[in-house]
Amino acid sequence: MKRLDGKVAIITGGASGIGAAGVRLFSENGAKVIIADIQDDLGQKLADQIGPNVDYIHCDVSKEEDIINLINSAVQKYGKLDIMYNNAGIIDGIFTSILDTEKSDLEKLLSVNLIGPILGAKHAAKVMIPQKKGCILFTASACVNIAGLGTHSYAATKHGVSGLTRNLAAELGEYGLRVNCVSPYAVVDTGISKGVAEVEEEAAVEGRRLIGEVSNLKGKVLKADDVARAALFLANDDEAGYISGVNLVIDGGFSVVNPTMM
Ligand code: NAD
Repeated sequence: MKRLDGKVAIITGGASGIGAAGVRLFSENGAKVIIADIQDDLGQKLADQIGPNVDYIHCDVSKEEDIINLINSAVQKYGKLDIMYNNAGIIDGIFTSILDTEKSDLEKLLSVNLIGPILGAKHAAKVMIPQKKGCILFTASACVNIAGLGTHSYAATKHGVSGLTRNLAAELGEYGLRVNCVSPYAVVDTGISKGVAEVEEEAAVEGRRLIGEVSNLKGKVLKADDVARAALFLANDDEAGYISGVNLVIDGGFSVVNPTMM
């Protein structure tokens, strides 16, 4: 018996990075998985590589009609939805001083990183409440615990996701739904981390530490698979059946270390 045997899971942002690692791991563990993303070629290729238990559906999470279509497609095909993993996220416009923050960047960040997860949870809950069972997951970020330079607006969206997790756990618990999030920091092998690495060429010139060099666990870097394994644990009712409202931070202890004591 595999850990997600018989389960139906949607993973947004599943074409790349943490989401793609989740797609592989959830399907290896017996789930039927639907990849929801806007990178159609990448998402379809991943689905084709893994096989018939994985489908790709184009879904821009900032568009409610796309989310409704996504969830309807899952329910039409499988008759239910067990796991809604709202993972898609962007970093557009980050590493900018608050003084230079553009409203258009802010609106895009909010619509993908916060409104998307809220709408994903809303339409998943409509299916899960009558089932009296279901698991809603989000990807927040360890920037909820620790501040960085120029990451104010991104961090605000991720604080929103973390607050959403706790509030939905409270609201949906009476229907048997569990709601949790994972919060990684400085994953080295995703689309976002490539974007960050480019920006950090500047940081290197200024002598600041780079993504992938921040682990508190000496010699270890955080990979997308590590985050996917934490999501798998939270998704599994046998292992995490009494866990709800939790923000599982995956940063090797980085955000709890007091640098003045080290
Ligand atoms: P990634 O770029 O590899 O993956 C993000 C995916 O989201 C991509 O496939 C992208 O196409 C998709 N996406 C973007 N906009 C979308 C939209 N409007 N609708 C649907 N899909 C959309 O990056 P990742 O690092 O795997 O990011 C996954 C999540 O992890 C994000 O929420 C990110 O904020 C979060 N996160 C990443 C890190 C890190 O260090 N990489 C750290 C903390 C949190």
